[in-house]
Amino acid sequence: MTKQCYYEVLRVTRDASGKEISRSYRKLAVQFHPDSNPGDEDANQQFKLAAEAYEVLSDPEKRARYDRYGHAGVDGAGSHFGSAEDIFAAFGEIFGGGSSMFGDFFGGQGGRGGRRGADIRVDVKLTLEEAAHGVTKTVTFQRNSICETCDGKGSQPGTQPEMCQQCDGRGQVIQSAGILRVQTTCPVCRGSGQIIVHPCEDCGGSGSISRTVDLEVSIPAGVDDGMRVRLTNEGEPGNAGGRPGDCYCFIHVRAHKLFHRDGQNLILQMPITYTQAALGCEIEVPTLSGAENITVPRGTQSGAVFKIAGKGMPHPQGGRPGSLMVQTFIETPKKISTEQEQVLRQLADLEQIEVLPERKNFLDRIKEYFAVSEES
Ligand SMILES: [Zn+2]
Ligand SMILES: [Zn+2]
Repeated sequence: MTKQCYYEVLRVTRDASGKEISRSYRKLAVQFHPDSNPGDEDANQQFKLAAEAYEVLSDPEKRARYDRYGHAGVDGAGSHFGSAEDIFAAFGEIFGGGSSMFGDFFGGQGGRGGRRGADIRVDVKLTLEEAAHGVTKTVTFQRNSICETCDGKGSQPGTQPEMCQQCDGRGQVIQSAGILRVQTTCPVCRGSGQIIVHPCEDCGGSGSISRTVDLEVSIPAGVDDGMRVRLTNEGEPGNAGGRPGDCYCFIHVRAHKLFHRDGQNLILQMPITYTQAALGCEIEVPTLSGAENITVPRGTQSGAVFKIAGKGMPHPQGGRPGSLMVQTFIETPKKISTEQEQVLRQLADLEQIEVLPERKNFLDRIKEYFAVSEES
């Protein structure tokens, strides 16, 4: 089986320039791309053959060998192209930047061909109540958007970029060192294949302008500090049809005066008096959704924990909510009335425990003691 002539495959003449070869290849690659011809084996073959022909003819050295020796001079060309992905790995750069044709083509099909935009990070501060109930917040950040003056092309309207002389519009250059030859991105045009001669005045030739963006983000109930909410495709725009990045909202939950969070649970430190602990009582405790009554049984120890199921934080993915853990501690009064003191002293007598005497009596006794010492 004789192999088809590479010039015929790419539908160019034998004296075609590098630019003509690139242009023709781009057109054929779009035409025969497997995504546009599902199940068409013929198109698939054409697609691979075009890539093989382009690999040879786009490289001045290989092209010279091919012109001189035919297929024998470039034996093995294209054999490493197993799939469309391999071809894009090899030639993807020529479709980015300079020619929007290929980029646009794949932009509509999920953004292959172009580079994906960068992600953006924003911080969102919430109160514990907002984290518990869910909230809609407006986030404000800076994001690049396509310059409308030049339509993202970077050239002043009415002017055209020029083809890069360094890489002949390919965006790739071959660097040789002995027998080693490496294809790299052109350093002059950075792979776009074009040089902007008259930069757009609004964007300075970058094709994009940084703008302040306000976005509403719906924060689900139950989020915790350090979680992030993703706003898909709200990051920086992609390059040459690549899909935009995402915007990540990092959640920060402020400390609360009453409740301390422990995963899904909330912890509340609840003071009770000695008598409440000893005799038992009903107390009202605050929760994030109104007050609840709990029964503190007779003989409760300081530090005892009472659990109110379902009154913790909701589960961000809709699972079971956590509990409110009420930890009691006995609060000692700093001031007591005379009457209270009398009762407490009676209690101490009953318990036969040593307590400090009343201050007045104590001082009197010290006086007596010294008086006796002086007499003797
Ligand atoms: Zn512009
Ligand atoms: Zn270049």
